[in-house]
Amino acid sequence: MIAGNRTINYLRISITDRCNFRCKYCIPASPFSVIEHKKIARYEEILKITRLACELGITKVRITGGEPFVRKDIFPFLEQLCAIKCLNDISITTNGALLTRKKIEKLISLGIKRLNFSLDTLKPEKFFQITGRDRFQEVWESILASHELGISPVKINAVVLQGFNDDEIDNLAALTIKYPFHIRFIEYMPMGDSAIEKQQQMLTKDIQNKIESRFGKLIPVKKSLNDGPAKKFQIPGAKGIIGFITPISSHFCSDCNRLRLTSRGTLRPCLLNNYERDILNPLRNGASDDQLKQIILSALTKKPSFHNLNDHTASSIPISHMTSIGG
Ligand code: SAM
Ligand code: SF4
Repeated sequence: MIAGNRTINYLRISITDRCNFRCKYCIPASPFSVIEHKKIARYEEILKITRLACELGITKVRITGGEPFVRKDIFPFLEQLCAIKCLNDISITTNGALLTRKKIEKLISLGIKRLNFSLDTLKPEKFFQITGRDRFQEVWESILASHELGISPVKINAVVLQGFNDDEIDNLAALTIKYPFHIRFIEYMPMGDSAIEKQQQMLTKDIQNKIESRFGKLIPVKKSLNDGPAKKFQIPGAKGIIGFITPISSHFCSDCNRLRLTSRGTLRPCLLNNYERDILNPLRNGASDDQLKQIILSALTKKPSFHNLNDHTASSIPISHMTSIGG
């Protein structure tokens, strides 16, 4: 599928807006309600939309949420997803708290070889402050188990916040010396009313400076064909990779190959733009495969050339939170 001069081959599917964590940068600060069960796309509906998207050129899928592993019966769903022939890359983004060794083995047996974890701190008490949950140990153990069982690469996403975890940037980066992990530092994106202050946002050049002041100049790593938006580097001699995801300081919209399917069954061509196109209700109302494909194609015509999040004006800030869109 083509949007402007971009080839869209990557579908990011949020299977739930629910989460067992309450990360301060992700969850709304004000009281919020979750989406009614009947309005959430059922697994068979997600699979149908995915199959149609595949016929249009999608080859790569990432499952996200909310927290994907809180949704019941995710494994039978993943099994059917992995059976879709034209998909050659299926991965999952998770907070890791519900992943046991047994579940990781099951994922590997299904053919899922890549996992992204979210971990912003290596200190259990800070972990509790940011996520609202005392689950550091389980998350760390599932990261190590994934590595031991052969998940490759194990990617770790860390949102960096000034005055909160900026003192841990070098220790997070140091994990790449011991393990072949990809540690990806993400710039905080203001989405709706999160509990994070604007001044806490930390940009990549400052993050990189902190790493280089301890480890010396980072070595740029060439991107491979299927790489996402992270700019990749290595500490000299390290086993792993350091990535910077720079939605604010340097947007990567011109390379964006993604379409999102939210748990409400809407297609969202851009994370940072509020345009969404409903595909679930047409599907439930009996639209034909061709009509559904037209909906997918027409949603893509609305994929903006770039986002304007760094305007810092209220109107440029998406009103939906990550849990409802799927980060
Ligand atoms: N629950 C899973 C997890 O935490 O990995 C998957 C969903 S979560 C929304 C996906 C990613 O979005 C996480 O890596 C999280 O750190 C990131 N994220 C959430 N809110 C963000 C924000 N406001 N700015 C930047 N990244 C954010
Ligand atoms: Fe949940 Fe992931 Fe959002 Fe944290 S970042 S609240 S784990 S969806």
